[in-house]
Amino acid sequence: MHEPRFKGNEKKYLNECIDSGFVSSVGAFVTALEKKAAEYTGAKYAVAAVNGTAAIHIGLHALGVRKDHEVITQAFTFVATGNAISYTGAESIFVDIDPETLGMCPVSLENFLEEHAEVKDGHCYNKTTGKRIAACVPMHTFGFPCQIDKIVSICEKWSLPVLEDSAESLGSYYQEKHTGTFGKIGAISFNGNKIATAGGGGILITNDEETAKYLKHITTTAKIPHAWEYVHDEVAYNYRMPNINAALLLAQFEQMPQFLKEKRAVAEQYQIFFNNLPIHCYRESKNSRSNYWLNAIEFESAIERDLFLKESNEKGVMTRPPWKPLHLLEMFNKCQKTNLKITEDLAKRIVNIPSSSLP
Ligand SMILES: *Cc1c(COP(=O)(O)O)cnc(C)c1O
Repeated sequence: MHEPRFKGNEKKYLNECIDSGFVSSVGAFVTALEKKAAEYTGAKYAVAAVNGTAAIHIGLHALGVRKDHEVITQAFTFVATGNAISYTGAESIFVDIDPETLGMCPVSLENFLEEHAEVKDGHCYNKTTGKRIAACVPMHTFGFPCQIDKIVSICEKWSLPVLEDSAESLGSYYQEKHTGTFGKIGAISFNGNKIATAGGGGILITNDEETAKYLKHITTTAKIPHAWEYVHDEVAYNYRMPNINAALLLAQFEQMPQFLKEKRAVAEQYQIFFNNLPIHCYRESKNSRSNYWLNAIEFESAIERDLFLKESNEKGVMTRPPWKPLHLLEMFNKCQKTNLKITEDLAKRIVNIPSSSLP
């Protein structure tokens, strides 16, 4: 659906990295990348991680999510969002999406909180289960920014820290501000199919210095800096991005303006093409700028959609349905959820179409 492109300094930086001998979790490229990512997104701090899933996991840990807590997210997302929540020992709660942005619906979120939540001693609790709701994780689907300002202000009212799953939205902006910088933490993925790739990698962005320091500490085995002693102050993780991945990604970052231009050109051609057909082609909503990572079209019926999937794949054109909504997967089917009408309907009528930039 989206092929990586290596037309910049990739080979040069990879050679430099190998020649330096520093290919693992310490090195100049990781540091340079963190600086670049912070500059690019406008976040004060960026902490590199081994992949996007690990970034979400550790971001939730840093927000204080622990075993037997609950985390609100959307069912319309890649399984990694739900997995990362489960790694902390917390349970997911699913709310519906907004049909315009395909991201978390602020109304559905607010309805859930009004019906089920209460704030006690500065924390949010679920009156139905008695458990603490420790965070909210909206996702910017396919690169389209969700209504993140509304979501953040609702979450503030309910004392819920926000981690933005910005895995798909590097280069996407809401009201001129980069996605991932509205909540306390943003997590971006650099998997091979994302808009920029490290082979595998992720990054956490935040404006909070303490959080940034803690994120770096906990992703590097919580080792207390010392010239030779191995002292670690908690059970932590080996989640730091290797220098060799950072070398590749740094070269990719340099090409982001070009990548975005090329992605937009593809999206514009699709929009023109679908304009006169009874098929809706998703666009960035007003006040937002999408990276157009994956183009998405919506059929009037599930039957037509399935026919299109079958025929296009048989003819050798890769098209894909969206993810099966998480509440329909076995490991998440007992999670608490709101009415997920939009999620269930759109999951049956949307298709992602080839979105690589044109050669
Ligand atoms: C890609 C993706 C992730 C996970 O990122 P990885 O780097 O593959 O671990 C998480 N959430 C969403 C929505 C994604 O698309």
